Amino acid sequence: MFPDADYAARLDRARAVMADRGVGALMVSVGADLPYLAGYEAPQLERLTMLVVPAAGDATLVVPRLEAPAVVDRSAFEILAWDETDDPVAIALRLAGSPQVAAIGDHTWARFLLAMQERSPATRFVPATPLTAELRIRKDDQELDLLRRAGHAADRVAARLVSERFGGRTEAQIAGLVREMLVEEGHDVAAFAIVASGPNGASPHHEPGGREIGDGDAVVVDFGGRLGGYYSDTTRNFHVGEPPARYAEAFAVLRAAQDAAVEAVAPGVPAEEIDRIARGIIAAGGFGEFFVHRTGHGIGIEVHEDPYVVEGNGRPLERGNTFSVEPGIYVPGAFGMRIEDIVAVTGDGGERLNRSDRDLSIVE
Ligand code: ZN
Ligand code: ZN
Ligand code: ZN
Repeated sequence: MFPDADYAARLDRARAVMADRGVGALMVSVGADLPYLAGYEAPQLERLTMLVVPAAGDATLVVPRLEAPAVVDRSAFEILAWDETDDPVAIALRLAGSPQVAAIGDHTWARFLLAMQERSPATRFVPATPLTAELRIRKDDQELDLLRRAGHAADRVAARLVSERFGGRTEAQIAGLVREMLVEEGHDVAAFAIVASGPNGASPHHEPGGREIGDGDAVVVDFGGRLGGYYSDTTRNFHVGEPPARYAEAFAVLRAAQDAAVEAVAPGVPAEEIDRIARGIIAAGGFGEFFVHRTGHGIGIEVHEDPYVVEGNGRPLERGNTFSVEPGIYVPGAFGMRIEDIVAVTGDGGERLNRSDRDLSIVE
């Protein structure tokens, strides 16, 4: 996916952050940190796969013998394949070198961490995410390019949906169509498709089901796929026939909130400020109580990662940060709406990685 030298550079940066924070070893298992650091995505199985990065010393990928052929050999780390009768926890601990503090990947199975804690009582285990997020939060040019390509592929899906008939089809049927289109437009895989119609729209993560979409329904469609390991994630809104006044009023408020929030993206602006701007406009429009989630989440090799655009996150935005700006209004029993674009922080502002029409689409 990326050249060998990139992984070596990532591991060097990891060691620098470890030194800074007094972490003696970084140990990452299943989850997104492993492909980021080693270019290998471990299957979510019961056997231990773990990249062990001592603060001083070579990194080693501990991998079950039968999975080893799937690992791309890289100069940045050694590969140590363990056999069925070996004790992989002991191997990982030996490679870590009994550090005082070890940072452990968030997605590591609890049973491995519990075994490590029991066998290495002098080591304090801390979460790896604050450390790995420090590396992953600034995307390099190649990562930005993949996110841009994924975003534009999702935009082509959005453009095609405008001319689809919604009435008479179920949410699940539209979701199936969206998944097909995500792949047709260039994603390696479709990751998710939320289709929430009528009152279901008021549930932000509604699971599309057998509800048949009818005349007068608002439909929230939130979808994304993975391209070259990086995700797209965008939300657009459809209405079967002309919307009633209250819906149209809410949509105008939402549209203004999303635009203003995206406009405000620039290096140095605290992440929470983007949330405040969107929330302020929605509250001023009289819909504040119906905006029930944070304004956005970082995106990259995970759909949700740092930085989170939420009150309390005062971290200043930096060039290379990529995140969603997705305010929503959810009126229980009536309708929901959300406008979502991925934005990348540039040297002096923000770049929308989604450029499909953000207006409400009237469909049949
Ligand atoms: Zn969501
Ligand atoms: Zn989304
Ligand atoms: Zn999102």
